[in-house]
Amino acid sequence: MTDIEKPSNFIQHVIQADLDAGRVTKVITRFPPEPNGYLHIGHAKSICLNFGLAEQYGGSCNLRFDDTNPEKESDEFVQAIIEDVRWLGFNWDGEPRFASDYFAQLYDWAKYLVAEGKAYICELNAEQMREYRGTLTEPGKNSPYRERPAAESLALLEQMRVGAIDEGAMTLRAKIDMASPNVNMRDPVMYRIKKMAHHRTGDAWNIYPSYDFAHGQEDAIEGVTHSVCTLEFAANRPLYEWFTKNLPLPCVPRQYEFGRLNLNYTVTSKRKLKQLVDEQHVDGWNDPRMPTISGLRRRGVSAAALREFCDSLAVAKTDGVVDLAQFEHFIRDDLNTVAQRAMCVLNPLKVTLSNYPEGQEEMLTAAGHPNRDDLPERCLPFTREIYIDRADFSDDSTLSRKKFKRLVIDDYVRLRSGYVIKADEIVRDSSGEISEIIGSYVPNTVGEDPPEGIRPRGVIHWVSASHCIDCDLYLYENLFTVPAPDSGEGSFLDFINPESLKIVRNCKAEVGLANASEGEHYQFEREGYYCLDAKNSTADKPAFNRTIDLR
Ligand code: ATP
Ligand code: MG
Repeated sequence: MTDIEKPSNFIQHVIQADLDAGRVTKVITRFPPEPNGYLHIGHAKSICLNFGLAEQYGGSCNLRFDDTNPEKESDEFVQAIIEDVRWLGFNWDGEPRFASDYFAQLYDWAKYLVAEGKAYICELNAEQMREYRGTLTEPGKNSPYRERPAAESLALLEQMRVGAIDEGAMTLRAKIDMASPNVNMRDPVMYRIKKMAHHRTGDAWNIYPSYDFAHGQEDAIEGVTHSVCTLEFAANRPLYEWFTKNLPLPCVPRQYEFGRLNLNYTVTSKRKLKQLVDEQHVDGWNDPRMPTISGLRRRGVSAAALREFCDSLAVAKTDGVVDLAQFEHFIRDDLNTVAQRAMCVLNPLKVTLSNYPEGQEEMLTAAGHPNRDDLPERCLPFTREIYIDRADFSDDSTLSRKKFKRLVIDDYVRLRSGYVIKADEIVRDSSGEISEIIGSYVPNTVGEDPPEGIRPRGVIHWVSASHCIDCDLYLYENLFTVPAPDSGEGSFLDFINPESLKIVRNCKAEVGLANASEGEHYQFEREGYYCLDAKNSTADKPAFNRTIDLR
């Protein structure tokens, strides 16, 4: 046995016990997305769990697309899911697998159950079927087609398959127990007719298996030992086990359920995320406000931060809501380590340093990161004209040093990694707005204390006015204004935050950011963490997404 960590969640306990008792020799798990949308942060938890378990116990994990419903599935979604799982840093065993690869086998097993008298073709329509099903408190009634001879069902099933029967006219149902207290066991549908092309099998099939008939059998085909899914499938487990017991499967997988990840201020339902995209409330599946893996990536969240967050979550038998702040903690923690430092002035105000000679330039330097030597030093050209942020100047010079640690007339601040400067005079435009500050610099103060009597109020960021680049910043807030947008009355769309995106144009950033590249993380000092957004950038003006502010 491999050297494994001490079990810490109930699934690890189960696996450990199975290994110890010799019931399982190699752990095989799977992540089984339906390609009907992009993956979201909830899926990330499932991915980390399934791939993590396989890794921990020296087993393997399959990536298997549960593509049994052609209506909503597409190859675009398949490709996006592959990209997302890979980006998270996981490797699946062999090629991605598809439920559709098993359609022929599943069909054979369906015929097997019919031949055994354990499934039948039913001609109740959808409404009748609902009526016959009963309720949570009343048992259902047997379908009048339940005792139809196996040979007849087999012939009809074949006709369904080849497209000779109309959609909705017939279904194949398992013959279990219409009086079962578990509604899932009341003769569930195994196949329905859908005369619809499938993104992988084309027109080969006119019938498609239900999730319940497909899932456990797919697990068995792949030799999955521990089939981990979310709690809402707990009531499907008896059905999962009925199929695995009644079919001649190569092995018998077991299903275990854990609590879904829910985050406040966030919706994690593919259907709702799709609605946000289709109705253009957001800029596609990878809008940086979306809780999709691709949205988080575009936002600038690193795969490591997402994995660490997922690994920190309890794997429990109850659903819970996680506070967004918990996720943000992991994002900041990671970015603080990985992000290169840079300066960017969001709301530029020109300062002319009258005692610095016109045309003179000198190259100052700053650390790429305060405690990482592996990142290169930055070059910061210093010139007579610089930009500081409007918020870093006040024309109220009565503000106490304690209250306002920035620039006021007749007082000093230090430019980050640069000189100490003083503000001497305010220039106003015709409307009375401050348009420029005339100031002066204190020589020999780069990395040195200023002379006696000069006490800078604080440290502010800046860029050279002649050596900087223009950029646009996209500042994101929560997409929803309330903690539980999808649990109240009305539509979750009513709670979309109208201020979830604010674009700040023509910010001034240090020259080095002209070479910013996608996938790199930057801390704009005193402002927040940012990353380049390829989609919103133009040839001559980069755009940056704010991943998250500094706390
Ligand atoms: P959604 O409810 O968002 O449509 P889904 O369950 O229909 O998601 P699938 O593609 O079927 O989406 O999910 C693939 C796997 O991811 C399943 O095993 C499912 O249980 C798991 N999963 C989905 N959402 C979450 C979540 N919020 N937390 C943890 N696991 C999840
Ligand atoms: Mg699902």
